[in-house]
Amino acid sequence: MQNTSSTQRPPSHLFYQSRLRRPLVDRAEGIYLWDQEGRRMIDGSSGAMVVNIGHGNRNVLDAMKRQMDRVTFAYRLHFENEPAEDLARMAAERLPEGMDRIFFVSGGSEAVESCIKLARQWALAVGQSERWKVISRFPSYHGGTLGALGVTGYAALSDPFSPMMREMPKIPAPTAYLDRDNLTMEQRGIKYADMLEEKILAEGPESVLAFIMEPIGGASTGALVAPDSYFPRIREICDRYGILLIHDEVMSGVGRTGKFLGGDHWNCKPDLIALSKGFASGYCPLGAMAAPSRLVKPVLDAGGFQHGFTYAGNPLACAAGVAVLNEIDRLGLIDNAARMGEVLKGELERLSERFPFIGDVRGKGLLLAAEFVSDRETMKPLPKELNAHQRMVDMAYERGLIIYSRRTRGGVEGDHFLVCPPMIVTNEEIGSITSILGDTLE
Ligand code: PMP
Repeated sequence: MQNTSSTQRPPSHLFYQSRLRRPLVDRAEGIYLWDQEGRRMIDGSSGAMVVNIGHGNRNVLDAMKRQMDRVTFAYRLHFENEPAEDLARMAAERLPEGMDRIFFVSGGSEAVESCIKLARQWALAVGQSERWKVISRFPSYHGGTLGALGVTGYAALSDPFSPMMREMPKIPAPTAYLDRDNLTMEQRGIKYADMLEEKILAEGPESVLAFIMEPIGGASTGALVAPDSYFPRIREICDRYGILLIHDEVMSGVGRTGKFLGGDHWNCKPDLIALSKGFASGYCPLGAMAAPSRLVKPVLDAGGFQHGFTYAGNPLACAAGVAVLNEIDRLGLIDNAARMGEVLKGELERLSERFPFIGDVRGKGLLLAAEFVSDRETMKPLPKELNAHQRMVDMAYERGLIIYSRRTRGGVEGDHFLVCPPMIVTNEEIGSITSILGDTLE
């Protein structure tokens, strides 16, 4: 293999030229990645919260090799395939009761698009053609395709396309931790949920089709967790107006938060669920929409689901997905994510005691974030010019640790970084991660 240092590399023709010209990756195992110069990095963000079971898992690779030797692609209109059947069954067994129809796609945006399009076609099939608005939250991220972007609350990403797409109505994400009022957290949860009802009434309840949210916020909000009271109230409001509740579990799903779904922490029963990222843990592009038969049947009876993608349900991606779910069970990774998440959160809280510019530590399981502030009392963010979140990522990278960051917190400008190592992480490895974080923050 060619071992080319970053200074000797020829100009790249790849579309994305990374800001710092990152090194060429060579190999990966467990929570580590090596570049071609032999430098080892800790993957403290599982890629982009993708590689949930860790890199180089032998059993997954062997299952994929066995599948590759048989067939890697067969078009879904020509053949059914066993890995897709197996994965759909295994997913349904792990999802809330009644989520028994699995529609495979190749990524998170496609999964969200599928939920939106199924919801709309269900409304048409049951004679509610006036329903088309999908309310979402800001900030939020639901994907880069134009439909998913329409429900994404991240103006810098969607503004350039505003003449070309439907910007859907938004309500604020429940940033109760920032509020300085006399309400309890539970009262604040209700307050934020009630904003959905106000929005539905303002839009006209008969025109609203669905509400989409990340049960535990991802990168856009920095692992934002709503007060417990938020979830039952949201369900109640959706039911009152006959609106479908879509959970985007692309980042929070498949064990990362210490339960199979982020929504499982509150025993939530959404109507549609989008999955991706951890579903095949980065071993193959894979995503899915989960839906109950009661929504799927009217659509199929009315002439079929007018939607689909070429690579959907391909045997190789599904074989990877089956092997990933088996490894999650065999290694007890969901429990480990819960346990190690507690340990890591405790360490982040200790760092926040040492560094007063950490104003909030939050998240569940191994979907964790810390937020920078200039004043902990008022939770005033750091000045934008400091570019604190990017500097944190760059300085940690120099010290051998990959983390993820953003400037945006619930509806307000601010900096946070996410620490989300693979679910196989050990106590000792958490020690290494927090020691580098401490060094970097210092
Ligand atoms: N929804 C959420 C919550 C996400 O975090 C992401 C990706 N970061 C997406 C959707 C889009 O997924 P993809 O990039 O695979 O299309």
